[in-house]
Amino acid sequence: MKVFQCGHCSYPLFFENNECENCGHLSGYRDVDRQMLTFDPAGTSLTSDREKIEYKYCKNQQYEVCNWLVPKDSPQDFCSACQLNRTIPNLSFKENLQNWQNLEVAKHRLVYQLQKIGLDLRTKMTDAEGLCFDFITKNNDQNIMTGHANGIITILLREADSTLREQARKEMQERYRTLIGHLRHEVGHYFWEQLISKNEDILSQFRNIFGNEETNYGDALQAYYKNGAPDNWRDSYISKYATSHPWEDWAETWAHYLHIMDMVETAHFFGLEVNSKEISDTMKIASSFDPYTVKDFETIIRTCVPLSYAVNSINRAMGIPDVYPFVITPAVVNKMKFIHQLLLPKRKL
Ligand SMILES: [Zn+2]
Ligand SMILES: [Zn+2]
Ligand SMILES: [Zn+2]
Repeated sequence: MKVFQCGHCSYPLFFENNECENCGHLSGYRDVDRQMLTFDPAGTSLTSDREKIEYKYCKNQQYEVCNWLVPKDSPQDFCSACQLNRTIPNLSFKENLQNWQNLEVAKHRLVYQLQKIGLDLRTKMTDAEGLCFDFITKNNDQNIMTGHANGIITILLREADSTLREQARKEMQERYRTLIGHLRHEVGHYFWEQLISKNEDILSQFRNIFGNEETNYGDALQAYYKNGAPDNWRDSYISKYATSHPWEDWAETWAHYLHIMDMVETAHFFGLEVNSKEISDTMKIASSFDPYTVKDFETIIRTCVPLSYAVNSINRAMGIPDVYPFVITPAVVNKMKFIHQLLLPKRKL
């Protein structure tokens, strides 16, 4: 994620900010060029401080789940990220609102990233090939799970409750479980269908790297939940779950690819360097770059490793878990390279 600042007083703004904490000007995000705009709160309309263009907030701003802007004369009430919502929770329950807010923070960051890559995001409500989100609460008698099917990403609201999520993380013996992780994983299944399944050449490259996805999915998952991952899973997979089936390996690797790109992009916008005399040359970053502009994925990984070493160390100083608790082996790098090469032509920078 890039960094933003107030158009009125230049104070730093977070991506989610509705206003500048320093001068009180309202703020909103314009996705077409990834800019944060600010507005005089005393103004009669939402006219941007610098460009003097009129906007309206996305309709979801009323619930404090969105700060994205829509041109004032647009027939759309919702921003491009919220147009992807098909189902939102029943907001007459207070805890649903809080959980939905958590989910929207993750979803907007996901959409920022997919747009930056240059991926086509069409809403399924108007396009059968498109994508949509169902954020739902589940009754005990319903057999609904977090997952993806045919462009519909279902996320159970309980995942947005940090206590329940931590409980699930322990039960599943996972090292990392977050909302942004879920969303990146599930959207990976959608883009597998869009980018790989429809192109024979790319599908055969995929099978060479990830294996043949025609293996029965239900049986494979059942076997995984019965037997677990093989002992040597770390050699070739980013997570235990990735061993269950080539589709899950793809979605797990895709999610980690997006994690790494976001970490390195954020480091770049802060100008972070890891350049101490106390550490070996292989663990240094002398300069930073926007990873979305880099062709060679090895360069990105060479930056990510020292970066996560440094940031993990800061987390340990505070007694909290590592920000990136994974080891990326050459076999996993190879899988990520395939994703990077696949996405490079999409860039519209
Ligand atoms: Zn300000
Ligand atoms: Zn919105
Ligand atoms: Zn999956």
